[in-house]
Amino acid sequence: MINGKIIKGIGGFYYVDTENGLYECRARGIFRKNKITPLVGDRVSINVVDEENKKGVVEEIEERDTELVRPPIANVDKALIVFAIKNPSPNLSLLDRFIVLAEKENLEIVIVFTKVDLDTDGELLDELKDIYEASGYKVIPVSNKLKLNIDKIKEELKGNTVVFAGPSGVGKSSLLNEVDKNFELKTGEVSDKIKRGKHTTRHAELLKLECGGMVADTPGFSSLILDDIDESELKEYFIEFDKYDECRFGSRCIHENEPSCAVKEAVENREISKKRYESYIQLLNEIRAGKRRY
Ligand code: GDP
Ligand code: ZN
Repeated sequence: MINGKIIKGIGGFYYVDTENGLYECRARGIFRKNKITPLVGDRVSINVVDEENKKGVVEEIEERDTELVRPPIANVDKALIVFAIKNPSPNLSLLDRFIVLAEKENLEIVIVFTKVDLDTDGELLDELKDIYEASGYKVIPVSNKLKLNIDKIKEELKGNTVVFAGPSGVGKSSLLNEVDKNFELKTGEVSDKIKRGKHTTRHAELLKLECGGMVADTPGFSSLILDDIDESELKEYFIEFDKYDECRFGSRCIHENEPSCAVKEAVENREISKKRYESYIQLLNEIRAGKRRY
């Protein structure tokens, strides 16, 4: 048996990346019987049945650390949330929503601001860094045009399974192209195959990068709905609230209208970003409105 990782699954075949190359595998019958579906990203053990033609059988699936729904990939460990400093201007409420979704999935989060070449005096970037670094996140400014900090992004990808998230037009594909000159080629192959397939639904796939990481071929969290998050759970995904645990109502405090709320005090004292707090309240109300619909 050899170990590997499923990087693609199409029509009952799983493509497993191992140190001996890529194997086309069927899953053992027992998985079907137990209603376990192997997932792209799964760490598996395979039995090679035909070395010459690189065919095998998935025998064992390791327990998953994480399981993303969009895209459907197991064991993603990091989200690179990408926004441009301008063109398009960053919608911070959307950025905070991506953060909440990634926090919920327990992913490590890195925030990437692209197009810093358009920020001649550095003011826009400083403002954004102020908010997000103070909230506890790693922020990497990038310019694909000037090839600034591409090495830092490679460092983040190395050895990890990563999903890129962010609105379109911010430079996600440009960045992946800077990171790996063959990236376009790699995605090109995928879309060609998909076009040839008959109305196949979009399959998620992991692409191996030169720098030794893997990246999902589709951006993360395409549905931005928060419908499986509870009102009382949301505050956990605003990590800068964590250290303020002295609200009068203790852990039951939702940091909204309660008296003697340590979080609200921290917002007043500018220890917590007002923008972030406003996003929190906005998302809280959205969750409530969603629950009322059912
Ligand atoms: P995606 O939709 O997030 O994948 O964005 P793209 O990579 O397709 O980029 C959208 C547009 O922004 C393209 O016209 C790029 O040339 C441009 N762009 C990407 N990165 C940069 C950058 O760092 N600086 C500038 N000025 N433009 C960029
Ligand atoms: Zn509170």
